[in-house]
Amino acid sequence: MTQNEARGGRRDIPSVDRVMGSEPAREAAARFGRAALVNAVRAELSEARRRGVTIDAERAAAAAAARLAAVDLPRIRPVYNLTGTVLHTNLGRAIVADAAIEAAAAAMRSPVALEYDLAAGGRGDRDDILRDALRELTGAEDATVVNNNAAAVLIALNTLARGRDAIVSRGELIEIGGSFRMPEIMRRAGARLIEVGTTNRTHLKDYADAIGPKTGVVLKVHPSNYRIEGFAAEVSTHALAALTHEHGVPLLHDLGSGTLIDLTGFGLPVEPTVAQTVAAGADLVTFSGDKLLGGPQAGFLVGRADLVARVNKNPLKRALRLDKARLAALEATLKLYRDPDRLAERLPTLRLMTRPASEIAAMARRLAPAVQERVGTGFTVEATACRSEIGSGALPGESVPSAGLAIRPAGRRAASRRGGGAALAQLAAALRRLPVPVIGRIESGALVLDLRCLEDESGFAANLAALDLVASD
Ligand SMILES: *Cc1c(COP(=O)(O)O)cnc(C)c1O
Repeated sequence: MTQNEARGGRRDIPSVDRVMGSEPAREAAARFGRAALVNAVRAELSEARRRGVTIDAERAAAAAAARLAAVDLPRIRPVYNLTGTVLHTNLGRAIVADAAIEAAAAAMRSPVALEYDLAAGGRGDRDDILRDALRELTGAEDATVVNNNAAAVLIALNTLARGRDAIVSRGELIEIGGSFRMPEIMRRAGARLIEVGTTNRTHLKDYADAIGPKTGVVLKVHPSNYRIEGFAAEVSTHALAALTHEHGVPLLHDLGSGTLIDLTGFGLPVEPTVAQTVAAGADLVTFSGDKLLGGPQAGFLVGRADLVARVNKNPLKRALRLDKARLAALEATLKLYRDPDRLAERLPTLRLMTRPASEIAAMARRLAPAVQERVGTGFTVEATACRSEIGSGALPGESVPSAGLAIRPAGRRAASRRGGGAALAQLAAALRRLPVPVIGRIESGALVLDLRCLEDESGFAANLAALDLVASD
């Protein structure tokens, strides 16, 4: 009699020790560690007991190993972003440059002079790391950096307008991705929101009438994810700066994406640069690190030295600051901007955004037969022209010509709209179950895979070999 049976255990459920002694358990213990395996084996055995089923030691060990393998998969998994949105917030926005990845890895691996002045041998300031590069690239007097642009706006408002009025146009009270709503951020920053103008038109006089002794800041917000067209008017940064300076009130401009360079030179639509906004007279400009700039998540504040100094003295700064890895990645990213000629080659965001549609179309034609073979006769696959957008509130309403694969249900299922829709949803789900999940978009009866962001063509084809249209669970 085994110990288990002696303790009144059931003959058809092996003991944990028996399972741990089996061959599959030895392999699994080497991979996942003994302690984790014991827990998984216990869970497996108690489930078998609960369901009243028989299980032998080998099967229990294999099931426990499978359980561990499933939880061992990283939750942050690489995916193919074939959505046609280059900076996809849900897919982690910018892919950073190799130089930035190397710099971050090196910083994580070793002690670094983060807040240490190597020349003087004493305490330094982590803001010194990016200050010079940001001043050079934006023309601003001073610069600092926090966790993201939402944090930059929060700390700027809290510094300039806590307990005071923050004046903003009704046409610029934006919401970005649900959780960032300008009126709420303003309230949290302790500022009293003073709305001026109307949704479609705001004039200089509207601001002028609102400015008074309680005004802490005038805020201008770049319309990142929408456009007001038709009978519309807004006040330029230049004109607004003239007014605010006359009254001695700072002008804060939330640029959102913001770009450090003129994108029209790369054949992209106009987006105001940070330098232009600073030159137009904004006293403090905020923008993101992981949008058009193409770096890791961060929020920059650049502008007047006295205002940046006040931001840096705000106790919130300590709560919103960056760690050494991201600072290192940002430093390496900003450095790439010193050589604009090679920027499109080195900065993935710009490289992907400027990829010629003809090159993408050629790839679509090459891949179509292989994809057709994988998805089978239930679908037709054809190379198609499509349009990509930049995303994350950069260049709103603008798109660039691209190409991809349009996959449509074929045969009987295609006949009904519902059947076709279900088939497409099933295919989209199967693509998401691939070892490297493939994310496309469903658009007018087709699953469209925009290939703008696909650079690893052979890896993509190899990954597709695992396509299984029937869900296993
Ligand atoms: C994107 C955006 C933000 C938020 O920036 P995060 O870096 O995502 O925090 C704020 N304001 C505007 C205008 C934006 O476009």
